[in-house]
Amino acid sequence: MTRDVHDLPLSRTTTVGSLRIHALEAGLQWLDGGAMFGVVPKPLWERRIPADERNRIPLALRCLLVEAPNALVLVDTGIGNKEDEKFHEIYGVRNEGDPTRLEDAIRHAGFAPEDVDIVLDTHLHFDHAGGNTLRDPEGRIRPAFPHARYVVQEAELEFAKSRNERIRASYLEHNHAPITEAGLWDLVRGEAEVTEGVRVVPTPGHTPHHQSVLVTSDGETACFLADVCPTSAHLPLPWIMGYDLEPLVTLESKRALWGRALEERWLLVFEHDPVTPWGRLDSDADRPKLAEPA
Ligand SMILES: [Zn+2]
Repeated sequence: MTRDVHDLPLSRTTTVGSLRIHALEAGLQWLDGGAMFGVVPKPLWERRIPADERNRIPLALRCLLVEAPNALVLVDTGIGNKEDEKFHEIYGVRNEGDPTRLEDAIRHAGFAPEDVDIVLDTHLHFDHAGGNTLRDPEGRIRPAFPHARYVVQEAELEFAKSRNERIRASYLEHNHAPITEAGLWDLVRGEAEVTEGVRVVPTPGHTPHHQSVLVTSDGETACFLADVCPTSAHLPLPWIMGYDLEPLVTLESKRALWGRALEERWLLVFEHDPVTPWGRLDSDADRPKLAEPA
């Protein structure tokens, strides 16, 4: 089990058809295990991911770098470097690097932050969009990827700005407002092709306008699930986070995804799994679980 940020390799590479994709480890956070597993009793979930003395479990901050034919696409951006020590202590954030572990991982995969053409946000929670922007040594906050356009669902951006009492701890303005000010958003509505080989599909429930990302090439597909299924322990339909705003909607999003994933042999990519970056569903199992790697 992952206990330390250095337990995970900075980047791992695989292929989808003729495209290369890289799992980038942008660090770790530690969140309350009960909140991560909703109504699932602790004796069941702690067998999958053991908790620390504060009942917290380690979670990866995994992003995906896609070498699409016409663009280098970064999916989600981790937590970034703008939060203070108290924040890092509360959420157990470990993402130090140059300037964060995400940029280190991008370089480990053979690229530079300047090479990213498209930043694709699955949603705007701080642990997914926090690295959209960076605080520079002078204290100014600027877009972290100087040559990139940024993509999110239009309604997710509106929702993030609404900041009601239930959601405002998760949506921090400095992760999206500087992108708006710089005019860098390419907002999408519903299912959309972002660039050749990369599509977004709405997978609502965690937030009302959450999206997952499909990478397709030569008949093969990888799906970056994001928070519709944060870890491989969340594959069973009712294992849904307490954080989810509409858990019954999440349930149906998962049911639809698993049907397609089995039929088309998708590679599933887990953003928060503390050990396993990706895998395929076991087509012989009677409930959703990963097949043993071949
Ligand atoms: Zn989230």
